[in-house]
Amino acid sequence: MSVRVRFAPSPTGKLHVGSARTALFNWLFARHEQGTFILRIEDTDQKRSNPEFLKDIYASLEFLGIKADEGPLFQSQRMAVYQEHAQRLLKEGKAVQRDGAVMFPVSPQQVTFKDLLRGDITVDTTLFENLVLMKSDGTPTYNFACVVDDALMKISHVIRGDDHIANTPKQVVLYRAMDFPLPVFAHIPLIVGADRARLSKRFGATSVDEYRQVGYLPDAFFNYLALLGWAPGGNREMVPPSEIIQLFDLTRVRKAAAQFDQRKLDWLNSQYIKQTPPAKLAELLAERLIAKGLLPTSYDRTWLTRVAAVVQDRMRVLEDIEEEHVFFFQDPPEYQAEAVAQHVRRDGVAAHLLALRERLSGLANFETATVEEATRAFVAEQGLQPKELIHPIRVAVTGRAVSPPLFETMSIIGKEKVLRRLEYAGTQLVAG
Ligand code: GLU
Repeated sequence: MSVRVRFAPSPTGKLHVGSARTALFNWLFARHEQGTFILRIEDTDQKRSNPEFLKDIYASLEFLGIKADEGPLFQSQRMAVYQEHAQRLLKEGKAVQRDGAVMFPVSPQQVTFKDLLRGDITVDTTLFENLVLMKSDGTPTYNFACVVDDALMKISHVIRGDDHIANTPKQVVLYRAMDFPLPVFAHIPLIVGADRARLSKRFGATSVDEYRQVGYLPDAFFNYLALLGWAPGGNREMVPPSEIIQLFDLTRVRKAAAQFDQRKLDWLNSQYIKQTPPAKLAELLAERLIAKGLLPTSYDRTWLTRVAAVVQDRMRVLEDIEEEHVFFFQDPPEYQAEAVAQHVRRDGVAAHLLALRERLSGLANFETATVEEATRAFVAEQGLQPKELIHPIRVAVTGRAVSPPLFETMSIIGKEKVLRRLEYAGTQLVAG
Protein backbone atom coordinates (compact mmCIF):
# COMPACT_ATOMS: atom_id res chain seq x y z
CA MET A 1 0.00 0.00 0.00
CA SER A 2 1.45 3.33 -0.91
CA VAL A 3 1.57 5.89 1.85
CA ARG A 4 -0.50 9.00 1.25
CA VAL A 5 -0.81 11.60 3.96
CA ARG A 6 -2.21 15.07 4.10
CA PHE A 7 -1.84 18.24 6.07
CA ALA A 8 -5.15 20.07 6.23
CA PRO A 9 -4.84 23.51 7.78
CA SER A 10 -7.66 26.01 7.97
CA PRO A 11 -6.47 29.49 6.96
CA THR A 12 -8.05 31.11 10.00
CA GLY A 13 -4.82 32.14 11.72
CA LYS A 14 -1.07 32.14 11.32
CA LEU A 15 0.51 28.70 11.21
CA HIS A 16 0.78 27.64 14.84
CA VAL A 17 3.86 25.80 16.05
CA GLY A 18 1.69 22.81 16.95
CA SER A 19 0.21 22.67 13.45
CA ALA A 20 3.68 23.01 11.97
CA ARG A 21 4.75 19.97 13.93
CA THR A 22 1.72 18.06 12.64
CA ALA A 23 2.71 19.07 9.10
CA LEU A 24 6.28 18.06 9.77
CA PHE A 25 5.37 14.62 11.12
CA ASN A 26 3.16 13.99 8.10
CA TRP A 27 5.88 15.12 5.75
CA LEU A 28 8.60 13.13 7.51
CA PHE A 29 6.45 10.02 7.46
CA ALA A 30 5.82 10.51 3.72
CA ARG A 31 9.51 11.09 2.98
CA HIS A 32 10.58 8.15 5.11
CA GLU A 33 8.07 5.83 3.41
CA GLN A 34 8.60 7.31 -0.04
CA GLY A 35 4.97 8.29 0.05
CA THR A 36 2.99 11.31 -1.02
CA PHE A 37 2.35 14.41 1.05
CA ILE A 38 -0.75 16.37 0.12
CA LEU A 39 -1.66 19.88 1.17
CA ARG A 40 -5.37 20.50 1.57
CA ILE A 41 -6.72 23.86 2.56
CA GLU A 42 -9.84 23.56 4.69
CA ASP A 43 -11.45 26.85 3.79
CA THR A 44 -15.14 26.05 3.73
CA ASP A 45 -15.72 28.69 6.38
CA GLN A 46 -15.30 31.65 4.07
CA LYS A 47 -16.01 34.16 6.82
CA ARG A 48 -13.08 33.02 8.94
CA SER A 49 -10.68 32.17 6.11
CA ASN A 50 -8.27 34.88 5.12
CA PRO A 51 -5.82 35.05 2.18
CA GLU A 52 -3.22 36.62 4.49
CA PHE A 53 -3.26 33.53 6.67
CA LEU A 54 -3.01 31.33 3.61
CA LYS A 55 0.12 33.22 2.57
CA ASP A 56 1.49 32.78 6.05
CA ILE A 57 0.86 29.02 5.92
CA TYR A 58 2.70 28.74 2.59
CA ALA A 59 5.61 30.87 3.80
CA SER A 60 5.93 28.96 7.06
CA LEU A 61 5.93 25.58 5.33
CA GLU A 62 8.51 26.85 2.88
CA PHE A 63 10.63 28.13 5.76
CA LEU A 64 10.65 24.60 7.17
CA GLY A 65 11.44 23.11 3.77
CA ILE A 66 8.13 21.25 3.62
CA LYS A 67 6.95 20.94 0.03
CA ALA A 68 3.67 19.37 -1.03
CA ASP A 69 3.78 16.56 -3.57
CA GLU A 70 0.13 17.24 -4.42
CA GLY A 71 -2.00 20.30 -3.87
CA PRO A 72 -2.81 22.69 -2.52
CA LEU A 73 -6.40 21.54 -2.94
CA PHE A 74 -9.07 23.87 -1.69
CA GLN A 75 -12.21 22.56 -0.06
CA SER A 76 -14.01 25.74 -1.10
CA GLN A 77 -13.62 24.57 -4.71
CA ARG A 78 -15.02 21.13 -4.00
CA MET A 79 -18.53 22.03 -2.87
CA ALA A 80 -20.10 20.02 -5.69
CA VAL A 81 -18.28 16.92 -4.48
CA TYR A 82 -19.67 17.22 -0.95
CA GLN A 83 -23.14 17.94 -2.35
CA GLU A 84 -22.97 14.84 -4.49
CA HIS A 85 -22.03 12.60 -1.58
CA ALA A 86 -24.69 14.14 0.65
CA GLN A 87 -27.24 13.49 -2.10
CA ARG A 88 -26.10 9.91 -2.36
CA LEU A 89 -26.60 9.36 1.38
CA LEU A 90 -30.03 11.01 1.18
CA LYS A 91 -31.00 8.78 -1.72
CA GLU A 92 -29.83 5.69 0.09
CA GLY A 93 -31.94 6.72 3.07
CA LYS A 94 -28.90 6.98 5.31
CA ALA A 95 -29.22 10.72 5.74
CA VAL A 96 -32.24 12.98 6.17
CA GLN A 97 -33.03 16.56 5.33
CA ARG A 98 -33.93 18.80 8.25
CA ASP A 99 -34.46 22.58 8.14
CA GLY A 100 -32.35 22.83 5.02
CA ALA A 101 -29.48 20.88 6.56
CA VAL A 102 -28.49 17.29 5.85
CA MET A 103 -28.36 15.16 8.98
CA PHE A 104 -26.94 11.74 9.58
CA PRO A 105 -28.76 9.80 12.29
CA VAL A 106 -26.22 7.72 14.14
CA SER A 107 -27.37 4.25 15.12
CA PRO A 108 -26.10 2.89 18.42
CA GLN A 109 -22.97 0.86 17.80
CA GLN A 110 -19.37 0.38 18.85
CA VAL A 111 -16.80 1.81 16.48
CA THR A 112 -13.21 0.75 16.55
CA PHE A 113 -10.32 2.35 14.77
CA LYS A 114 -6.61 1.80 14.80
CA ASP A 115 -4.44 4.53 16.24
CA LEU A 116 -0.77 4.06 15.52
CA LEU A 117 0.25 5.55 18.84
CA ARG A 118 -2.49 4.29 21.11
CA GLY A 119 -3.56 1.01 19.53
CA ASP A 120 -7.20 0.16 18.92
CA ILE A 121 -9.69 2.68 20.22
CA THR A 122 -13.32 1.71 20.64
CA VAL A 123 -16.07 4.24 21.21
CA ASP A 124 -19.77 3.82 21.83
CA THR A 125 -21.73 6.02 19.43
CA THR A 126 -24.50 6.63 21.93
CA LEU A 127 -22.02 9.12 23.34
CA PHE A 128 -22.56 11.46 20.44
CA GLU A 129 -25.47 13.09 18.76
CA ASN A 130 -26.65 12.81 15.21
CA LEU A 131 -24.18 14.31 12.78
CA VAL A 132 -24.75 17.32 10.60
CA LEU A 133 -23.24 16.68 7.16
CA MET A 134 -24.32 19.79 5.29
CA LYS A 135 -25.32 22.99 6.99
CA SER A 136 -28.39 24.89 5.85
CA ASP A 137 -26.15 27.36 4.00
CA GLY A 138 -25.08 24.50 1.73
CA THR A 139 -21.54 24.14 3.14
CA PRO A 140 -20.27 20.86 4.56
CA THR A 141 -19.26 20.34 8.17
CA TYR A 142 -15.62 19.61 8.96
CA ASN A 143 -16.28 15.94 9.74
CA PHE A 144 -18.14 15.30 6.50
CA ALA A 145 -15.80 17.18 4.15
CA CYS A 146 -12.82 15.62 5.87
CA VAL A 147 -14.09 12.06 5.37
CA VAL A 148 -15.12 12.63 1.75
CA ASP A 149 -11.76 14.20 0.93
CA ASP A 150 -9.59 11.75 2.84
CA ALA A 151 -11.38 8.89 1.11
CA LEU A 152 -11.33 10.38 -2.40
CA MET A 153 -7.71 11.44 -1.99
CA LYS A 154 -6.90 7.90 -0.92
CA ILE A 155 -5.26 9.01 2.29
CA SER A 156 -3.66 5.96 3.91
CA HIS A 157 -2.70 7.57 7.22
CA VAL A 158 -4.51 10.43 8.91
CA ILE A 159 -1.95 12.06 11.16
CA ARG A 160 -3.35 14.97 13.14
CA GLY A 161 -3.39 16.63 16.50
CA ASP A 162 -5.08 14.73 19.31
CA ASP A 163 -7.47 17.65 19.76
CA HIS A 164 -9.34 15.84 16.96
CA ILE A 165 -9.53 12.49 18.68
CA ALA A 166 -13.20 12.96 19.59
CA ASN A 167 -14.00 13.58 15.92
CA THR A 168 -12.47 10.37 14.70
CA PRO A 169 -15.20 7.92 15.79
CA LYS A 170 -17.76 10.20 14.13
CA GLN A 171 -15.72 10.11 10.97
CA VAL A 172 -15.40 6.33 11.19
CA VAL A 173 -19.18 6.06 11.25
CA LEU A 174 -19.29 8.11 8.04
CA TYR A 175 -16.59 6.04 6.35
CA ARG A 176 -18.70 2.97 6.97
CA ALA A 177 -21.92 4.56 5.81
CA MET A 178 -20.24 5.57 2.56
CA ASP A 179 -18.42 2.25 2.11
CA PHE A 180 -15.02 3.90 2.18
CA PRO A 181 -12.04 1.91 3.46
CA LEU A 182 -10.69 3.20 6.76
CA PRO A 183 -7.28 4.85 6.91
CA VAL A 184 -4.93 4.32 9.81
CA PHE A 185 -5.05 7.14 12.34
CA ALA A 186 -2.28 8.69 14.39
CA HIS A 187 -3.27 11.34 16.88
CA ILE A 188 -0.23 13.21 17.93
CA PRO A 189 -0.13 14.98 21.26
CA LEU A 190 -0.42 18.71 21.56
CA ILE A 191 2.45 20.94 22.44
CA VAL A 192 2.14 22.57 25.83
CA GLY A 193 3.97 25.52 27.30
CA ALA A 194 6.10 25.68 30.40
CA ASP A 195 2.90 25.92 32.46
CA ARG A 196 1.65 22.64 30.87
CA ALA A 197 -1.29 24.47 29.35
CA ARG A 198 -1.78 24.42 25.61
CA LEU A 199 0.90 26.54 23.94
CA SER A 200 -0.67 29.96 23.80
CA LYS A 201 0.15 33.59 23.27
CA ARG A 202 0.50 34.01 27.00
CA PHE A 203 3.60 31.87 26.84
CA GLY A 204 5.36 33.70 24.06
CA ALA A 205 5.54 33.20 20.34
CA THR A 206 3.07 30.70 18.92
CA SER A 207 3.37 31.07 15.16
CA VAL A 208 6.19 29.78 13.02
CA ASP A 209 6.44 33.23 11.46
CA GLU A 210 7.29 34.81 14.81
CA TYR A 211 10.15 32.37 15.30
CA ARG A 212 11.34 33.04 11.77
CA GLN A 213 11.34 36.78 12.40
CA VAL A 214 13.33 36.50 15.61
CA GLY A 215 15.92 34.57 13.67
CA TYR A 216 15.67 30.87 14.30
CA LEU A 217 17.32 29.03 11.43
CA PRO A 218 15.10 26.70 9.40
CA ASP A 219 17.21 23.62 10.13
CA ALA A 220 17.34 24.38 13.84
CA PHE A 221 13.60 24.89 14.04
CA PHE A 222 13.00 21.75 11.96
CA ASN A 223 15.35 19.78 14.21
CA TYR A 224 13.68 21.13 17.33
CA LEU A 225 10.10 20.45 16.20
CA ALA A 226 10.93 16.95 14.97
CA LEU A 227 12.47 16.03 18.30
CA LEU A 228 9.57 17.46 20.25
CA GLY A 229 7.82 14.29 21.28
CA TRP A 230 9.95 12.00 19.15
CA ALA A 231 13.53 10.90 19.68
CA PRO A 232 15.95 9.31 17.23
CA GLY A 233 17.55 7.35 20.07
CA GLY A 234 21.02 7.56 21.53
CA ASN A 235 20.22 10.77 23.38
CA ARG A 236 20.98 12.77 20.30
CA GLU A 237 19.61 16.26 20.18
CA MET A 238 21.26 17.85 17.20
CA VAL A 239 20.17 15.84 14.20
CA PRO A 240 20.18 17.47 10.77
CA PRO A 241 16.97 17.29 8.73
CA SER A 242 18.35 14.81 6.18
CA GLU A 243 19.13 12.35 8.94
CA ILE A 244 15.79 12.93 10.64
CA ILE A 245 14.06 11.80 7.44
CA GLN A 246 16.04 8.56 7.52
CA LEU A 247 15.45 7.88 11.19
CA PHE A 248 11.88 9.06 11.57
CA ASP A 249 9.52 6.50 13.05
CA LEU A 250 5.94 7.61 13.57
CA THR A 251 5.15 4.75 15.93
CA ARG A 252 7.75 6.07 18.35
CA VAL A 253 6.14 9.45 18.84
CA ARG A 254 5.48 9.86 22.55
CA LYS A 255 1.87 9.81 23.69
CA ALA A 256 2.25 12.41 26.41
CA ALA A 257 1.91 16.09 25.59
CA ALA A 258 5.17 17.60 24.41
CA GLN A 259 6.45 20.47 26.48
CA PHE A 260 7.90 23.35 24.54
CA ASP A 261 11.38 24.05 25.84
CA GLN A 262 12.50 27.50 24.80
CA ARG A 263 15.98 27.03 26.22
CA LYS A 264 16.57 23.87 24.26
CA LEU A 265 15.40 25.57 21.09
CA ASP A 266 17.77 28.46 21.81
CA TRP A 267 20.64 26.11 22.45
CA LEU A 268 19.99 24.21 19.22
CA ASN A 269 19.73 27.42 17.27
CA SER A 270 23.02 28.69 18.63
CA GLN A 271 24.62 25.40 17.60
CA TYR A 272 23.26 25.70 14.06
CA ILE A 273 24.42 29.31 13.87
CA LYS A 274 27.90 28.24 14.98
CA GLN A 275 27.99 25.61 12.25
CA THR A 276 26.92 27.93 9.49
CA PRO A 277 29.80 28.96 7.23
CA PRO A 278 30.50 32.66 7.96
CA ALA A 279 29.83 33.74 4.37
CA LYS A 280 26.43 32.06 4.49
CA LEU A 281 25.67 33.50 7.91
CA ALA A 282 26.61 36.92 6.53
CA GLU A 283 23.92 36.51 3.86
CA LEU A 284 21.30 35.70 6.47
CA LEU A 285 22.35 38.68 8.56
CA ALA A 286 22.42 40.98 5.54
CA GLU A 287 18.78 40.22 4.82
CA ARG A 288 17.77 41.40 8.28
CA LEU A 289 20.14 44.35 8.42
CA ILE A 290 19.08 45.70 5.05
CA ALA A 291 15.43 45.38 6.03
CA LYS A 292 16.16 47.37 9.20
CA GLY A 293 18.06 50.04 7.31
CA LEU A 294 21.31 49.18 9.09
CA LEU A 295 23.15 48.04 5.97
CA PRO A 296 23.13 49.34 2.40
CA THR A 297 22.02 46.88 -0.28
CA SER A 298 25.45 47.32 -1.86
CA TYR A 299 27.22 46.09 1.28
CA ASP A 300 30.74 44.71 1.33
CA ARG A 301 30.45 40.92 1.56
CA THR A 302 33.98 40.35 2.75
CA TRP A 303 33.51 42.84 5.52
CA LEU A 304 30.18 41.38 6.65
CA THR A 305 31.69 37.90 6.62
CA ARG A 306 34.27 39.16 9.12
CA VAL A 307 31.45 40.44 11.32
CA ALA A 308 29.65 37.09 11.01
CA ALA A 309 32.76 35.15 11.98
CA VAL A 310 33.31 37.21 15.10
CA VAL A 311 29.69 37.14 16.34
CA GLN A 312 28.68 33.64 15.39
CA ASP A 313 29.78 31.94 18.59
CA ARG A 314 27.93 34.51 20.63
CA MET A 315 24.52 34.37 19.02
CA ARG A 316 21.35 32.71 20.17
CA VAL A 317 19.10 34.06 17.42
CA LEU A 318 19.82 36.17 14.36
CA GLU A 319 18.04 39.08 16.00
CA ASP A 320 21.04 39.36 18.33
CA ILE A 321 22.87 41.07 15.50
CA GLU A 322 20.72 44.17 15.78
CA GLU A 323 20.04 43.84 19.50
CA GLU A 324 23.57 43.25 20.77
CA HIS A 325 25.93 44.05 17.93
CA VAL A 326 24.45 47.08 16.28
CA PHE A 327 27.72 49.00 16.90
CA PHE A 328 29.19 47.27 13.87
CA PHE A 329 26.71 49.15 11.70
CA GLN A 330 26.24 52.50 13.40
CA ASP A 331 27.66 54.54 16.26
CA PRO A 332 26.19 53.16 19.49
CA PRO A 333 22.62 54.50 19.59
CA GLU A 334 22.88 54.20 23.35
CA TYR A 335 25.53 53.42 25.94
CA GLN A 336 24.90 51.07 28.84
CA ALA A 337 24.63 53.48 31.76
CA GLU A 338 26.26 51.15 34.24
CA ALA A 339 29.20 50.47 31.97
CA VAL A 340 29.73 54.18 31.39
CA ALA A 341 29.59 54.92 35.11
CA GLN A 342 31.94 52.12 35.98
CA HIS A 343 34.50 52.40 33.21
CA VAL A 344 34.34 55.78 31.49
CA ARG A 345 33.45 58.37 34.12
CA ARG A 346 36.66 57.99 36.05
CA ASP A 347 39.56 60.31 36.60
CA GLY A 348 42.03 60.33 33.78
CA VAL A 349 39.98 58.19 31.41
CA ALA A 350 39.01 61.07 29.10
CA ALA A 351 42.59 62.14 28.62
CA HIS A 352 43.68 58.59 27.97
CA LEU A 353 40.96 57.96 25.41
CA LEU A 354 41.84 61.16 23.56
CA ALA A 355 45.57 60.42 23.64
CA LEU A 356 44.94 56.91 22.38
CA ARG A 357 42.84 58.40 19.62
CA GLU A 358 45.85 60.46 18.54
CA ARG A 359 48.08 57.42 18.62
CA LEU A 360 45.70 55.29 16.55
CA SER A 361 45.15 58.06 14.04
CA GLY A 362 48.76 57.69 13.01
CA LEU A 363 48.49 54.00 12.16
CA ALA A 364 49.21 53.07 8.57
CA ASN A 365 46.72 50.19 8.67
CA PHE A 366 43.98 49.13 11.04
CA GLU A 367 44.43 45.40 11.12
CA THR A 368 43.71 43.59 14.37
CA ALA A 369 47.37 42.98 15.23
CA THR A 370 48.34 46.56 14.45
CA VAL A 371 45.57 48.01 16.60
CA GLU A 372 46.39 45.64 19.43
CA GLU A 373 50.11 46.37 19.36
CA ALA A 374 49.64 50.13 19.30
CA THR A 375 47.08 50.04 22.09
CA ARG A 376 49.17 47.79 24.32
CA ALA A 377 52.25 49.93 23.76
CA PHE A 378 50.25 53.01 24.71
CA VAL A 379 48.91 51.30 27.85
CA ALA A 380 52.43 50.32 28.89
CA GLU A 381 53.84 53.80 28.31
CA GLN A 382 51.14 55.29 30.49
CA GLY A 383 52.01 52.84 33.24
CA LEU A 384 48.45 51.44 33.20
CA GLN A 385 47.08 47.96 33.74
CA PRO A 386 45.59 46.76 30.43
CA LYS A 387 42.12 46.45 31.89
CA GLU A 388 42.21 50.06 33.06
CA LEU A 389 41.99 51.11 29.45
CA ILE A 390 40.53 48.08 27.68
CA HIS A 391 37.17 48.44 29.43
CA PRO A 392 36.80 52.16 28.70
CA ILE A 393 37.74 51.61 25.07
CA ARG A 394 35.20 48.83 24.76
CA VAL A 395 32.45 51.02 26.17
CA ALA A 396 33.52 53.93 23.97
CA VAL A 397 33.55 51.86 20.80
CA THR A 398 30.60 49.50 21.37
CA GLY A 399 28.49 51.20 24.03
CA ARG A 400 28.58 47.96 25.98
CA ALA A 401 30.45 46.25 28.79
CA VAL A 402 30.71 42.98 26.86
CA SER A 403 31.56 42.54 23.19
CA PRO A 404 33.44 40.23 20.85
CA PRO A 405 37.25 40.39 21.17
CA LEU A 406 38.06 44.09 21.33
CA PHE A 407 40.91 44.58 18.86
CA GLU A 408 39.26 42.51 16.19
CA THR A 409 36.05 44.42 16.79
CA MET A 410 37.89 47.74 16.42
CA SER A 411 39.58 46.55 13.27
CA ILE A 412 36.27 45.52 11.73
CA ILE A 413 34.54 48.76 12.68
CA GLY A 414 37.39 50.61 11.00
CA LYS A 415 39.69 53.48 11.79
CA GLU A 416 37.54 56.46 11.01
CA LYS A 417 34.62 55.31 13.11
CA VAL A 418 36.77 54.13 16.00
CA LEU A 419 38.53 57.49 16.15
CA ARG A 420 35.20 59.30 16.09
CA ARG A 421 33.83 57.17 18.92
CA LEU A 422 36.96 57.63 21.06
CA GLU A 423 36.66 61.35 20.60
CA TYR A 424 33.00 61.35 21.48
CA ALA A 425 33.68 59.29 24.60
CA GLY A 426 36.63 61.46 25.62
CA THR A 427 34.72 64.71 25.22
CA GLN A 428 30.98 63.99 25.65
CA LEU A 429 30.45 60.67 27.33
CA VAL A 430 32.79 61.35 30.23
CA ALA A 431 30.77 64.40 31.15
CA GLY A 432 27.36 62.70 30.92
N1 GLU B 1 -8.67 21.77 9.37
C1 GLU B 1 -8.48 20.92 10.50
C2 GLU B 1 -7.54 21.59 11.49
O1 GLU B 1 -6.81 22.49 11.08
C3 GLU B 1 -7.87 19.62 10.01
C4 GLU B 1 -7.93 18.50 10.98
C5 GLU B 1 -7.53 17.20 10.33
O2 GLU B 1 -6.33 17.06 10.05
O3 GLU B 1 -8.44 16.39 10.08
O4 GLU B 1 -7.56 21.31 12.66
